[in-house]
Amino acid sequence: MTIPIYKKKQLIEIVSNSIEECGWNVLFLNNEDPYEIYVYSGDRNLKLRIIIYNITHGGKTRSEDEYRIQIKETTIDEKVNFVTLLLGYYDALEVYAGFDIEKHKNAAYSASTQIKKEALDNAYKNRFSIYNNSKDEIVVAFRPEFFMEYVLNRRQLHEFGDYASDMKILNSIIEENRDVNQAVLDEISENRKKVVINVTKRVRDSSFKERILVAYSHKCAICGLQLKLIDAAHVLPVGVDDSNDETSNGIALCALHHRAYDRALVTFDEKYDVLHNTKKIEEIKTIGHDGGLDKFLKNLNEKIALPPSVSDRPHVEFIKKANNYRGWN
Ligand SMILES: [Zn+2]
Repeated sequence: MTIPIYKKKQLIEIVSNSIEECGWNVLFLNNEDPYEIYVYSGDRNLKLRIIIYNITHGGKTRSEDEYRIQIKETTIDEKVNFVTLLLGYYDALEVYAGFDIEKHKNAAYSASTQIKKEALDNAYKNRFSIYNNSKDEIVVAFRPEFFMEYVLNRRQLHEFGDYASDMKILNSIIEENRDVNQAVLDEISENRKKVVINVTKRVRDSSFKERILVAYSHKCAICGLQLKLIDAAHVLPVGVDDSNDETSNGIALCALHHRAYDRALVTFDEKYDVLHNTKKIEEIKTIGHDGGLDKFLKNLNEKIALPPSVSDRPHVEFIKKANNYRGWN
């Protein structure tokens, strides 16, 4: 298998798509390597400076599982007000490796830095993997949808180096897709509790989203829209008793119908019939905010579109409880 070696311009395009996949927006601040971009989502924003290389095999003289990036910069300086990232991209699995900038700046020219194939494989399988390379550098390997999670937690993640047991716990929670409970947190050092909670939560969210979008073919179950505007919504909301991340407690909805569902403007019953809330609509009419109502009602499927596999379909118990919770009766 030949793995494409991308030019910088192509790599930065891949990065930009990954950031957008995380729900952030990207603006380019320059048009040369290292690329500088402004990323924002809601009221959060950051300026990123991206140093990125293709991840390739170490070469004939190296062991089979040794992969690396070949750093060409003679020095890697951080720029004020920017987050500088040192990244590798491995196209065969579409995963990134984030290297620890602290180990490479102000240090002697370092021609290459390694990552084991196993860490790349684990990132592909489990979404996220953290690994101590032979040079005592913590490398974080992750799938594109974790790009911003890595950016936001990178400092704490790279500091896992001195705490091998914390690292092992984090990797095992991710691998087994477990919940983080108090017993787990008690085993982790204070400084790393928050990052463990953040990352493992994102892994679970991402696994839910992926299952839902695949089950519903990336289409809104209520109107059939795709256009990459589809969310994985919980039937029984997160935080409500008995809610969980099973596929049968999820439904794919476009941004509009997700909002309408959460606000109890539309729902579906145990027979999967789509219902709209006549009482609410009447209230909205009285204040004259019912513009577009006809189109809205016309666009609703009679029944929600269902995943082919019966076990993936919304479970009756979740539907009942959710409708009850949102005030439908
Ligand atoms: Zn829709």
